[in-house]
Amino acid sequence: MASLVNSRGSVPDNCSLGYFGADLVSPQPDWDPDPALPTSPLFVALYDFAARSTNELSVSRGDKLRVYKEVGEYVVARRLSGKSIGYVPANYVAKISQETPSHHLGTTPWYFSGISRHEAERLLLSPPNEHGSFLIRDSESSKGEYSLSVRNQAKVSHFRICKCPDGSLYVQKGHAFPSMEELLAFYTENWKVIQSPLVKPCVLKTPPEKDEWERPRSEFTLRKKLGEGNFGEVWEGLWRNTVPVAIKIIKQADMKAEDFTKEIQNLKSLKHEKLIQLHAVCSRGEPVFIITELMKKGNLHSYLNRKSLSTLHLLDMACQVADGMTYLEEKHIVHRDLAARNILVGDDLTCKIADFGLARLLKDDIYSTSGSTKIPVKWTAPEAANYRTYSLKSDIWSYGILLYEVFTYGQTPYEGMTNQETIQQITRGYRLPRPSTCPSEIYLVMLECWKGNAEERPTFFALREKLNSIYMADANLFAVCIQRIYQ
Ligand code: AMP
Repeated sequence: MASLVNSRGSVPDNCSLGYFGADLVSPQPDWDPDPALPTSPLFVALYDFAARSTNELSVSRGDKLRVYKEVGEYVVARRLSGKSIGYVPANYVAKISQETPSHHLGTTPWYFSGISRHEAERLLLSPPNEHGSFLIRDSESSKGEYSLSVRNQAKVSHFRICKCPDGSLYVQKGHAFPSMEELLAFYTENWKVIQSPLVKPCVLKTPPEKDEWERPRSEFTLRKKLGEGNFGEVWEGLWRNTVPVAIKIIKQADMKAEDFTKEIQNLKSLKHEKLIQLHAVCSRGEPVFIITELMKKGNLHSYLNRKSLSTLHLLDMACQVADGMTYLEEKHIVHRDLAARNILVGDDLTCKIADFGLARLLKDDIYSTSGSTKIPVKWTAPEAANYRTYSLKSDIWSYGILLYEVFTYGQTPYEGMTNQETIQQITRGYRLPRPSTCPSEIYLVMLECWKGNAEERPTFFALREKLNSIYMADANLFAVCIQRIYQ
């Protein structure tokens, strides 16, 4: 069974990265700069940057760059020592005032090539630097010479380092050193001479991590509304006019904003062939877009209503959902809204779980037992409906209802009963009867899921094993029958 599910469920390459792959991250250059432009300003790379696509330019800290254009969060640059042009994140570079020659100092921790006096002050006064942090930079006013900048409490002092004709260096006339290392060793030891202690070289704050999942809203086009759920509308759309995606437009008003970022962070770490893959988010500004893979055949509930499917097909779909839920179980993630409407169908009857973890984000008054119509009472375990104790065991209950939906081709459970009546009946021990279209061994699995004592319900792992073995037995029986017919 597992192999059958796997072969159906293989994720297309373009979806497997978990975000829009590195090759597609940066914008496409749409212009042809003249590398000889005299006016393009000179920048220095503050950090190493490894290009993630052919549109980007790899730079090392200290590299001098000509910057031709600023494009959003990027600059279009060329290394002075190279010919290729590409994008570099704008926060990785700083403008410098003039060109300076490069030399062996570039490899030392205290030499900051090409930065201005002003930039030196900014760096030294920002954390993690503190009293005694220092750096050597190129002198702005005297080409070929240097300056020593030292943080002294909340101020920065600057000392000119002059060069003798023989190349030796000095701060005070008559006190020259053959190398910068020796000059610094002397003033580290004798800091009182300059009244500024040299404690440790200036450190650069690590650049803010770029969130690969965050994309500009302008990259997405909405094409067709697919549906509407608890969280807002869902649209079919295109990313950069090429990649088909599903876009969930979150109704911010119904969300617990403080939990949103954390939950999205969780979703980014989940990856399984039976879970809808998150591709990207637009969370700056409103409304928030959650971009996922597009499932062409829509939700399982509507699909079941429309299609004539064999018992083996139904069982296969149930196994796929159990497979995805086993993964969530391993990760200790409670779905809270497992139902056929939250399973999406793709080509070849591939089923994937959607909206995992999101139900927790809905504001309590929307997703609560008290007076709200939005709680899916007929799918909810009694302890969750009555006391809001959601757990993987309450998800197991919902899975039993999902099995009921699958084996009745999308019938509403407890038809004819109100939510209130359903809760009352369930609490008294009533359970849905076996549908005529449901094999008895599957119905026994449903009853296991609906045990009143949550602890007595099976795990998803056990459910998956059980359903897989039923599937295998049925599939073998089917194969034997076919063989007999053709013998
Ligand atoms: P939801 O808010 O997740 O309940 O989505 C509402 C409806 O939009 C679902 O019942 C589906 O019919 C449709 N839908 C949601 N996500 C997708 C998707 N990734 N691909 C295709 N249709 C979707």
